[in-house]
Parts: sequence; structure tokens; C-alpha cells
Amino acid sequence: TTVYLNGAFVPASEAKISPMDRGFLFGDGIYEVIPSYGGRFVGFGPHIDRMHSGLAQLSIDPKLSQADWQRIADQLLADNRAELGDNIGVYFQVSRGTDSKRGHAFPANITPTVFGFAFAIPPEPVADKTKVTTYAVVTGQDLRWQRCHIKSTSLLGNVLHYQQGYSQGAQEILLFDQDGNLTEGAAVNVFIVKDGVIATPPLSHKLLPGITRQLLLAILAKHSNIKVEERDISEAEVLAADEIWLTSSSKEIAPVLFVNDKPVANGEVGDVWLAVQQLFSAHKFDY
Ligand code: PLP
Repeated sequence: TTVYLNGAFVPASEAKISPMDRGFLFGDGIYEVIPSYGGRFVGFGPHIDRMHSGLAQLSIDPKLSQADWQRIADQLLADNRAELGDNIGVYFQVSRGTDSKRGHAFPANITPTVFGFAFAIPPEPVADKTKVTTYAVVTGQDLRWQRCHIKSTSLLGNVLHYQQGYSQGAQEILLFDQDGNLTEGAAVNVFIVKDGVIATPPLSHKLLPGITRQLLLAILAKHSNIKVEERDISEAEVLAADEIWLTSSSKEIAPVLFVNDKPVANGEVGDVWLAVQQLFSAHKFDY
């Protein structure tokens, strides 16, 4: 594989960064993951906007424009498509850069480290009840920090929560804040359906502003009459939901069939899911 590092495209085996990089020492950086199918990216602009927003909040300026990122991403696809095939995710990471003193304060005159690589991803999710990958989840208290809206490379909180679910045989974990309201999963946003109404937690510092969430809300507003609410959701509501979905760039909209080993409604993939994944599949390249 060919990767991008600080302005150059090089074989992965030749890409080197310093162990004094603050990304390594402190997790002092921002990352992004953007899916592509057949050379077309899903939500490229929104993904780069979110990365720029996170970098601005950390006062890191890699001095790359939306067009620069597009050129890097396109080149990563071109250089790796023969090896990886048609379904490729592009990972970008920008850290504050190399800091030989390992001081907590942001060093003056530091050059950000910019890294990008391409990796094979599963084929596009399909709106088909018999083919969709379904999930079993557990619930837990959200023990992460108060800046979950920043897509930080400091992912230890998320890793520990993911493992908490995984060690119980689940493939995700639904997290609840101290007031008992749903935040998100370890690597997904969460939606529920009750009596035909879709609900998802409002954006705040408690969750990542997912691009799949954003695109889904935009697509629903434009192309459907289904009622959608962004509001607080209690654990009792989650447990009594007709449908629960996880959203992320790789999963798109994924049905949850079990929570804490109990079936969601009748334990089958829902009709609202089917309609909504159909709409998402039809319109996801529009943004
Ligand atoms: N929430 C967290 C904590 C995540 O890590 C992710 C992405 O991996 C998401 C939500 C979903 O975001 P997106 O739809 O942008 O992939």
C-alpha cells in the first residue's frame, strides 16, 4: 500500500514518524474516516468540514484546503485500487507534530503531522432484510470525557467501552449519561423508532456529530414524511423501542436485534429500517 505522509506518497513500509510525535505521546490529534464505493466518496465535504472544525478547536492548522484533501484522497484511491478493490475507506490523521520536550503546553512553531492511508472496507450495505448485518448490544454508563464532539485520536475511552461490550458477547454498547439519557455507542450514533416516529439524541459535547447521522437527517427531511425528533432518550425508552439502529460511515444504518440479550420488539429487522436504508442508499452520494 501507498500512504500519504507530510506531503509525499510513499510505500507504507517507508513511512516513518518520530516517537516524539504528540499524536503518539498524548493522542494530541484529530482523525477522520471516509468511505468510498467505486471511486465515489460518501459525504466527503462534511467529513472534511468536521475534521477542520476539530482541528480548529485544538488550534492545529495543517494548512490544507478542502481541495487539497480531495486531491490526497483521490490519489490514495488511484494508488491503492488495484490492491484494495472498489470499496475503500480513507483514514486521515493530523496530530500537533513532533515535540522533543514533551511539554503539555502547545509548542510554538510546531509543524503538524499529516497522515493518510487507504484500506479495504466491506461492500455497500444493502436495504435487504435478509442480507443486512444485525447487532447485539449491551448498555452501560458513559464514562468518557466531556468533549465527545471532538473526533480525537485519544480513543481510550471508546476502546474501553467497546471492549466492555465485546467481552459480554456484544458488537456495540449503548451508553447513557449521568441523567440516564442515551449518548451514543463506542463507535456509532444511535437512533430509535417508536410508533413510527424516529428519535436520536441532540448534538452536544456528549456525542460525536456523526456524518451518517447528519446525512440521514438531511435525507429524511428532504425525501420522506417520517417524523424525526432530536431529543433526550431514556434507557427505558430504548428498551421499549420498536426498532434501534446504529449509524456510522461503514455500517450506514444497522439494525440492533438484541439489547442485554433481550430481543428488540419481536427480534426482527424492522420495516422503518428498510424504508430508511433504501432512502439512504438512494441519496447518500448527493452530499
Ligand atoms: N460516534 C463515535 C464515537 C464514532 O467513533 C463514530 C465513527 O466512527 C460515530 C459516532 C459515527 O460517525 P460517522 O457517521 O461520521 O462515521
